[in-house]
Amino acid sequence: MRPHVLSAGRRPAPATLALLIAAVLAGLSCSTVPLTGRKQLNLVPESEMLSTSFQQYGDFVKQNKISADRTGAERVRTVGTRIKGAVEQYMSDHGLADRLKGYAWEFNLVESKEVNAWCMPGGKVVVYTGILPLTRDDQGLAVVLGHEIAHAIAEHGNERMSQEMITQFGGSALSELLKSKPAQTQQLWMGVFGAGAQYGVLLPYSRTHESEADHLGLIFMAMAGYDPNGALDFWQRMAASSAGKAPPEFMSTHPADETRIAQIRQNLPEALQYYKPVR
Ligand SMILES: [Zn+2]
Repeated sequence: MRPHVLSAGRRPAPATLALLIAAVLAGLSCSTVPLTGRKQLNLVPESEMLSTSFQQYGDFVKQNKISADRTGAERVRTVGTRIKGAVEQYMSDHGLADRLKGYAWEFNLVESKEVNAWCMPGGKVVVYTGILPLTRDDQGLAVVLGHEIAHAIAEHGNERMSQEMITQFGGSALSELLKSKPAQTQQLWMGVFGAGAQYGVLLPYSRTHESEADHLGLIFMAMAGYDPNGALDFWQRMAASSAGKAPPEFMSTHPADETRIAQIRQNLPEALQYYKPVR
């Protein structure tokens, strides 16, 4: 199946704009991104994001092959657990520990040629074996895990889901959509979390979301004991690997360009203040 590319952040039609304004006025939906302080419009209640995530993640893990590579799986779990510890510390230091309520972290390595990795709400992480040659070592893995976990911490999934629900479904509630259009909703959900290729949807992250995930991700990896300079090496490897070829899913949803590399370079001094090497 050839995935069709949806564009993120399209302008809602006037009728759905009215719904959007109503939602904002109801005051239920504004949230703030940690670190950047950007206000975001999240229409799905967090409890619904978590229950849907646990359901969809559970199905994904059942329907896909968990890697038999024990060493690789152990590395994903070890690096992931260190990043999780850093995230918990960061959130608690910033009075945001509540935002991790209901998290049930899980790290799985899935057997697949796809170059990809993602994190769903509640800390449900999948790394595909296809990305390991590019992450190369624990530091590279920490770049990817830090970045993907940062998307979850910044609640980009809720924001993306909200935008797509407005543009595609006129602002219906997620719980209703799951009942009335389960297949389409699953397809959209997987697309929103960067796991959509096998469901036929590629939904690239916006520049704003990518910058936030890079920025937070650098701090998380540094706090976890991985040199954040590794982010420059990783994204340069990623860009080189897809030069002249059809880009892998990870690159389609996470465009790596000069702007990204330049911003990472700018954010490095801040991240290095958090860096204590792993002993
Ligand atoms: Zn990203």
